[in-house]
Amino acid sequence: MYIIMLGGPGSGKGSVGGRISEDFNLPHIATGDIFRAELKNETDLGKKIKKYMDNGLLVPDEVVIEIVENRLSQKDTENGAILDGFPRTKDQAIALDKFLSERGKKVDAAIELDVSDEDIVKRIIKRIVCSNKDCGESFNTEFKPPKVEGICDKCGSKLIKRADDNEETVMQRLKVYHETSKELLEYYKQTGALFTIHPNIYSKTVLEDNVSEAKEYLKNK
Ligand code: ADP
Ligand code: ZN
Repeated sequence: MYIIMLGGPGSGKGSVGGRISEDFNLPHIATGDIFRAELKNETDLGKKIKKYMDNGLLVPDEVVIEIVENRLSQKDTENGAILDGFPRTKDQAIALDKFLSERGKKVDAAIELDVSDEDIVKRIIKRIVCSNKDCGESFNTEFKPPKVEGICDKCGSKLIKRADDNEETVMQRLKVYHETSKELLEYYKQTGALFTIHPNIYSKTVLEDNVSEAKEYLKNK
C-alpha cells in the first residue's frame, strides 16, 4: 500500500506516518528528513537545496521527484511506502502517479491532518526533534516533553531544534503550504484517495487518536 501524509508543517504528519510505517511494516520516506541529512553531510545536493530549506521555500520539483523515484526504485518499497512531505505540489503528484502506474501500482490513500495555522505556530515553536536520523522522534517542550530534558525517550540521543523551526520560517512554510496544498488536496479528492483528520492538538492522546482514525480508514483500502 502506498500512503501519502499531507498536512502543514508541524501538523503531526511525521509522527502519524512513523507509527503507520511501524504498524504496517512499510518504509517511511520523509523528503524533509532526506534533505536534512544531505545538508548535514554537506553533499552537492545539500549545497543545492540549502537556500530553499533555510528560507522555508520548496525545493524545485525536478530535484525532489528524482530523489523520490530513486528511493521508490529500491526493493524495500515494492509492497508500498509511507510518503511524508511528498508530494507537495500537483506536478509532484502527477509524476508520482505516472511512476507508480508504470509499475502497476497506485496511491492507495492520502491522509490529511488539518490543523489551524494558529495551532501550528504554537506547536512548532516549541518542537524539539531527535538528532538521530534513524529515530526522528519529535517532542514538544509544552505539549509532549521528554522524560529527561534534552534526551530522546525512544533512543537516548540528544534532542535538537530544527533550523527552520523559528517563527519567521514557519510563517513562510505555512504560506507556501497554503499556496500549494489546495490543488493537491483537490487532486486526491478527485482520485478518491483523500481522507481528512481534524486533530485535537490539545489532547494528550492526539497521536493515538490520529493513528486509530487513520488505521480505521486504511482497513477498507
Ligand atoms: P515541514 O515541517 O515544513 O512540513 P519537511 O520536513 O517536510 O517540513 O520539509 C522541510 C523542507 O524541506 C521544506 O520547507 C522544503 O524546503 C523541503 N522539502 C521537503 N519536501 C519537499 C517537497 N516534496 N517538495 C519541495 N520541497 C520539499
Ligand atoms: Zn531518538
